[in-house]
Amino acid sequence: YENDDFSWSTELEQNLKDVFQLSKFRALQLKAINLSMSGKDLFLVMPTGRGKSLCYQLPAVCSEGFTLVVTPLVSLMEDQLMYLKSIDVEAVSLNASSSKEHAKMVLAEMTDAKAPFKLLYVTPEKIAKSKLLMSRLEKAYNAGRLSRIAVDEVHCCSQWGHDFRPDYKLLGILKRQFPKVPLLGLTATATSSVLKDCQKILCVPEPITLTASFNRTNLYYEVRLKDSISDDSISDISALIKERYKDQSGIVYVFSQKDAETVSADLQKKGVNASSYHANMNPEDKSQVHRKWATNKIQVVVATVAFGMGIDKADVRFVIHHTISKSIENYYQESGRAGRDDKPADCIVYFGFNDIFRISTMVVMENVGQQKLLTMVDYCQNVDRCRRSVIAVHFDEVWDDEGCNEMCDVCRHGNDYITVDITQHAKDVVQIVELAGTLDEKLTPLKVTEAWMGKGPAKRRKMIQTTTLSRLEVEAIITSLLLQGYLSEDFSFTPYTTYFYLKLGRKAPLLKNQSHSITMKMRRTGLDA
Ligand code: ADP
Ligand code: ZN
Repeated sequence: YENDDFSWSTELEQNLKDVFQLSKFRALQLKAINLSMSGKDLFLVMPTGRGKSLCYQLPAVCSEGFTLVVTPLVSLMEDQLMYLKSIDVEAVSLNASSSKEHAKMVLAEMTDAKAPFKLLYVTPEKIAKSKLLMSRLEKAYNAGRLSRIAVDEVHCCSQWGHDFRPDYKLLGILKRQFPKVPLLGLTATATSSVLKDCQKILCVPEPITLTASFNRTNLYYEVRLKDSISDDSISDISALIKERYKDQSGIVYVFSQKDAETVSADLQKKGVNASSYHANMNPEDKSQVHRKWATNKIQVVVATVAFGMGIDKADVRFVIHHTISKSIENYYQESGRAGRDDKPADCIVYFGFNDIFRISTMVVMENVGQQKLLTMVDYCQNVDRCRRSVIAVHFDEVWDDEGCNEMCDVCRHGNDYITVDITQHAKDVVQIVELAGTLDEKLTPLKVTEAWMGKGPAKRRKMIQTTTLSRLEVEAIITSLLLQGYLSEDFSFTPYTTYFYLKLGRKAPLLKNQSHSITMKMRRTGLDA
């Protein structure tokens, strides 16, 4: 379906250029479009920002009648209508905020052979609740005017997905009433079991599923360690921006609003043309920063994740994370704002031990799940697997090792790591944590680090085995014990704050077993330092 010639092929090419002003298709777009034009039902799984909407907008323009688009968010609907208007494609919408007159006009035009619109956007609740809409659709269907159905965010059908919406459960009516109309379900994230569920709920008998790779081949992934005592990441970042990314556009993501302001001020002091951006700024300031950055008057935006929605700058050459993201999904999305023009771009994370626990607090408050945060920590701590493979596996993608082409620091630096036995270290650390437990103390990760390095009270020092390892090594080992489940973190509330402490993990009892051993992989250079 990618290379075949169809009766509509010339028209597609022409409209791609003339109407959508795009020079060529991106991966999977043409295949998806040809399948849909051939009348096949289709699920398209493609990361955000890669161009799913074209896969129903272009067929809509090249078909008789109109395409029904079901989409959950009115704001996204309005963005699309505005975009379509700007390229002179007629589209209309029906949602809770449509006026009576507008709704009446749209409903009347649906069966009109001379009706001007090519796309009709509706919310799922309209399908579920408006009998009038369904009867007009029925009429349009009988008149051969309903050319295609697109269900955006199709994972919302399934209760096992991450964003179930009850109204989606009722969308099966579409395929039952209009069996001859091809349906296209779109999503950025759905596992095969979620898709199976969606297929049942939507009553699509045999859909073809196309899954775009999550691999962004033009992005270079790198992790840099952030020293927790003498954090000089700012010097490092400013040097990168002034040298490697001279005159190039980028984003520095930070943890908090306060960090956005301080990191931005620090970078400015070092001569970087940066501005901060966070949710608590007034709307005018926000849009001014966005505008100046979009037009290259500001080189770098130092932002919290509030800077994201609606950002569509193609030539972002670097996305630097001053602090890790709260999950791999978040990291993939945030770093994915680099290189939308398909040209090379860099995604660099600064990974610091203390940041794990700063993020933990946020994760707890937002109820994201500690486990998801650990996937991000694992991505950063990893020294022996290709970074893209970590991402791919996380998204359930089959990964072949040829796919990186030295476009991540691990692949580029080859086998520069060693495997070390940390069984005795683990026993020592677990003993510290165990002892704290029996004394009814709650030791923060920092306290455990210091205790092990011999900095705690003398009374404790006498009872434990201290270490001469460097701070970075100590932190790496504790992180590894967390990831491997020998330690876990828990939090405690005081009236003023939430703080994290380390406790024994589910695998800690295994250490009592004499023959049990644990290893971890460490960057060779990290150990020498
Ligand atoms: P998604 O729905 O997958 O998140 P969109 O459909 O919103 O993505 O598209 C994201 C951006 O990619 C839009 O700015 C769009 O114009 C652009 N885009 C889509 N297809 C192409 C293409 N073939 N070539 C260049 N840009 C494209
Ligand atoms: Zn790699």
